[in-house]
Amino acid sequence: MSMPDRSRLLAYARARRAALHWVDRYQPKGAMYPAVCRSCGATEWQGHWRWDEVPPGLPPVLCPACERIRDGAAAHRVVLTGALPPHWPAVRELIAQVERAEVQADPLQRVLRIDIGDDRVEVPTTGLRIARQLVAAILRRWRHGLRVQFDEERTTIEWLPQRASPAARG
Ligand SMILES: [Zn+2]
Repeated sequence: MSMPDRSRLLAYARARRAALHWVDRYQPKGAMYPAVCRSCGATEWQGHWRWDEVPPGLPPVLCPACERIRDGAAAHRVVLTGALPPHWPAVRELIAQVERAEVQADPLQRVLRIDIGDDRVEVPTTGLRIARQLVAAILRRWRHGLRVQFDEERTTIEWLPQRASPAARG
């Protein structure tokens, strides 16, 4: 190894030690960052939750999504109503598809327990983005047979009664 290489390596090692010291000094003891969710295993680093491999020794916490699930506190509700029943199996499959994709991209985007009532189905979500994706996916699939109402806390999607189409008979 030539001398310039060696001195560069030493300088690098010194800088790295200094950086580690700096990082340690600015990480208050007992702080919850970085952390791992004890319920779902998502990890947090600098405010972002991911499905990373969990390094050992992270303090266990409850991520915001698992907190919402524990408390039954939805960030948004997608309410499905109207002439839904014949479409419900397909809608349910679509919800599952969207949820899989969203959760994989962001651990905080989940569907809480779906509430199936007599005249409506309520799909509570832990985040706004997954709610928007659900609504968008449903609109793409059933675009003309729906009436949609957007509110701050909920989006209501009503399936309109199907009319026999004269063109289809002819
Ligand atoms: Zn969690």
